[in-house]
Amino acid sequence: MTALADIIRSHIRQTGPLTLAQYMEMCLLHPEHGYYNQPTPIGARGGFITAPEISQMFGEMVGLALAACWQDQGSPPAFALLDLGPGRGTLMSDCLRATGRVEGFRSAARLHLFEASRSLRNVQMARLGAFDPVWPRSLMELPAMPLFAIANEFIDVLPVRQFRRIGRGWAECMVGLKKGALTMGFVSCDASVGINDRFGHCVEGDIVEIRPAAEQITSTLAGHIARHGGLLLIIDYGEEKLTGPTFQAVTDHQSADPMAAPGNADLTSHVDFGGLIGAAAPLAHAGPCPQGAYLECLGITERARSLAAELRERELAEHTAAFRRLVHPEEMGNLFKVLALYPPDAPVPPGFVT
Ligand code: SAH
Repeated sequence: MTALADIIRSHIRQTGPLTLAQYMEMCLLHPEHGYYNQPTPIGARGGFITAPEISQMFGEMVGLALAACWQDQGSPPAFALLDLGPGRGTLMSDCLRATGRVEGFRSAARLHLFEASRSLRNVQMARLGAFDPVWPRSLMELPAMPLFAIANEFIDVLPVRQFRRIGRGWAECMVGLKKGALTMGFVSCDASVGINDRFGHCVEGDIVEIRPAAEQITSTLAGHIARHGGLLLIIDYGEEKLTGPTFQAVTDHQSADPMAAPGNADLTSHVDFGGLIGAAAPLAHAGPCPQGAYLECLGITERARSLAAELRERELAEHTAAFRRLVHPEEMGNLFKVLALYPPDAPVPPGFVT
């Protein structure tokens, strides 16, 4: 039993069951015991590994795609470069290195890192301090300039609420106590949460998930991009049309019971790309397209070959395995999707076959 489990149990005793979203938020971001405030949540030695931690090629491709899009939109002389949930800063560090030779890009970039975890902000400072980053407290605080933003494996950790269709109504998944232990169960609720409009077609027993925070963030950034130009690139696992349930816990690279050890596991669920596209109006969208096809379209195969030419034996085997892991349909290639949101009068961002 973790210290956070005790805190959550006494919270439930005082104020009643929590929605899944409230439970996720406490487990992930509790200032002391939350998963993302632990010393090593991400990376080969952490609980799970993300694409930029697998190979430098991922950040290089994304960086060059952002820079090409910036050029396509007239190379604005000052823009906000935003990483949402930058983790250990690896993605942004690879992006900035790869774009070092794109004339004017780095000097025009004002680096913004949107991060809720204090311990990861420290890691990001150590990694990216040379680029003078700022950590905005709110996405409403971004400067009035074009915005080029990347969110890799960020949306999937934003809190979700889960509902089950019962008759013509809904029941919501709540976290409560049973004989003192944390348990999930469905409790009937009124449909005022606004799910009927989108999920009115569901039949008895169907489970759906909504992620209000993700839609709000997307809509705020979309409004900014509609006014000032730019791009929001979202990379995550999920589908354009989601069917639930997809809420899950991952600990030590394995799936786990989300109630077992709060604060020790990453809690996520698949991203509903259709919902994000809807929230991004009036922006145009490209994708969601599979990550493997996207990276190949950007030229990762050539980059992998040129890096391989310098490597031998174990390093070469590791590099080949990392390349496969990013693009192969049975690894991350199909499960992960890429969605670009951009102004309707701008060219389609690179990486999407049109
Ligand atoms: N993009 C990185 C890390 C992904 S992990 C990579 O690809 O490696 C998710 C990141 O989002 C972590 O940095 C975590 O601390 C951050 N995060 C989680 N919830 C957040 C929230 N509500 N607001 C801001 N950052 C959040």
